[in-house]
Amino acid sequence: MDRLPFNGDRWQSSLQWQPTDPQQQRFQQLYEAILAANQQVNLTRITTPEDFWEKHLWDSLQGVAPWLSDPQASATGLKVVDIGTGGGFPGLPVALVFPHWAIALMDATRKKLTALESVCESLGIANVSFLPQRAEQVAHQPTHREAYDLALLRAVGPVNTCAEYALPLLKPEGQAILYRGQWSSEEEAGLKAILPRLGGKLRSVRSQTTPLTQGVRHNVVLTKVERTPDKFPRLPGIPAKTPLV
Ligand code: SAH
Repeated sequence: MDRLPFNGDRWQSSLQWQPTDPQQQRFQQLYEAILAANQQVNLTRITTPEDFWEKHLWDSLQGVAPWLSDPQASATGLKVVDIGTGGGFPGLPVALVFPHWAIALMDATRKKLTALESVCESLGIANVSFLPQRAEQVAHQPTHREAYDLALLRAVGPVNTCAEYALPLLKPEGQAILYRGQWSSEEEAGLKAILPRLGGKLRSVRSQTTPLTQGVRHNVVLTKVERTPDKFPRLPGIPAKTPLV
């Protein structure tokens, strides 16, 4: 099986952090297990060691960079939900690096989550749980509504759709990190216009360049400042089909 690059200097210069040897071994195990599962279920098209390193490992972890370089914060047990985790990104690399966090991996496609369950079982990843449902349903269940410190969303649709999925799940003061590629002032204006209706606020937009291929990344960080009205998220399918404007 191909070896992932270590790229310690690239981690260090971009995120002021680098994996320990045991963490690097866990990354290698994750890579091998995801590729094996990918034979049965379509989890990812990113399969070469360099691509996997940059687009799955590095990219998943750059979104939580503020916690990586803060040992005290990473020792705190956060409740995290990865909405639309697909092949387990960003949730699985985050689970490996933050063993004290409890990560719920959510995806509407049950067979992807079943495959991830086997991956986690074979690797002994214990700080994860599985929610094979749509965000619009989970967010109305009392055990999940306003229950999370942190929501992560990568590649699950327009930014206003992501905000509608994430904010109802957050505790007051909780944060959502929306992993985006390009980011425009129009998108930002459109997002700011709807956040008050969801009880959210734009906290920051951080930009990053991917270390191997110089791709553009933005992390759009939302904070929950007020309770989200019960009518959100709207019925399944509506937030994606008709994002709030
Ligand atoms: N986050 C992963 C996968 C992105 S693909 C990555 O970045 O690699 C988008 C995933 O979101 C798909 O697996 C899809 O099933 C899931 N998804 C889309 N809408 C959803 C919803 N409303 N609730 C839960 N999962 C959803």
